[in-house]
Amino acid sequence: MESGGRLFRYKRRMIVKTVSWYHDFHCIQGECPVTCCFGWGIPLDDEICETYHNMKGLKGFLIRSRIRGGKLKSFRLSLGKCPFQDREALCGLQRKLGEKYMPRVCREYPRQCINLGGFAVRTLDAGCPEAVRLLLTAEDPLGFTDSEEKIESRRYGNNEEPEFLASLEKLLPRLLSLLREDSGIRGLNHSFNSLLQYAEKAQEACIRGEKLPEASFCEEDRFPLFPFSIMLFNELYSTSLFEERLSILAPKLYRPLKRYYRVFDRLTEIKGQELLDSWISRYFEEDPGRIRKYSVIAGYFLQLDFYDIYEDYSFFTHIIQAVLHANMILMLDLTVYNAEGELPLSRQCELLAAYTRRAHHNDEVAKELFRRIMDRYG
Ligand code: SF4
Repeated sequence: MESGGRLFRYKRRMIVKTVSWYHDFHCIQGECPVTCCFGWGIPLDDEICETYHNMKGLKGFLIRSRIRGGKLKSFRLSLGKCPFQDREALCGLQRKLGEKYMPRVCREYPRQCINLGGFAVRTLDAGCPEAVRLLLTAEDPLGFTDSEEKIESRRYGNNEEPEFLASLEKLLPRLLSLLREDSGIRGLNHSFNSLLQYAEKAQEACIRGEKLPEASFCEEDRFPLFPFSIMLFNELYSTSLFEERLSILAPKLYRPLKRYYRVFDRLTEIKGQELLDSWISRYFEEDPGRIRKYSVIAGYFLQLDFYDIYEDYSFFTHIIQAVLHANMILMLDLTVYNAEGELPLSRQCELLAAYTRRAHHNDEVAKELFRRIMDRYG
């Protein structure tokens, strides 16, 4: 073991599935509208926790005093940012101690590589605005390429059922292919209904110990899943997604959320639904191609956590997240668009990155959004 305590570091040759736009990424540094360490608790991996735990003296004490959490640990934020970010917005840990004292997420961000044992999956985190720009402009945003590589990464999870993993590997591209954008709002609503109905069937098959069913379009749409109704939006938006501190932590997200409340809070359900319908018609009639973005976002969130099913067998949980996040982003976009009359790509990237940090990476918010959506459809 190295001093500083890095455990179980090893490299293994395996198939790596890489999202098509991964290699185009370059950090835009000074031009980035945020920094990696602002507005969210930096998650600490087991290896770095071990390193900090083994550090002797005042340095070790100071680092450990900034850690919070039980099982999932993170750095305690200071004025919305990582406590080790220095005055020049650079990483104090890297400057004073060296790169190996940075949490893995900071060394690699926004790159993510998950080693599932049989193969690994590599993608970029949408909490980074530049990664979002690549996602939204890629020709094949939901495509993966396979390569054989030596990767250095701890095995994620501990399930040992290679047949189940292989069936998930086969299933993901099929589910992504259900995300249609060519027949507008109704087409995407049909896709979302097909995904949820498939999730139900797969869940039942799993419980009965049967083979996973083939994924296909459903015969009938059961729910309005794109867009959600105004009542469901109201339930989702009145969660801890919004708090006044966001004006400092994530002003790009704070402003549209605040505007949403200002506009919809004073309306009855009927008036609110009418207003939402009119926003949606205008937005998509002006440019029907806008639908593509929401299918891409759904696909992104679907693939992001999809292989967690290998650990928790919960098809519904992970598939419904795709539907949830695509809708939440739609409402944010509509709010900005109606207030400002435009929604340039740079603004879309900032918004999706801020939303991802707040709604996907913040456990408390993510759980609350999930509970609300499960109350409705679970
Ligand atoms: S958020 Fe992305 S583009 Fe911005 S500083 Fe971090 S890695 Fe670079």
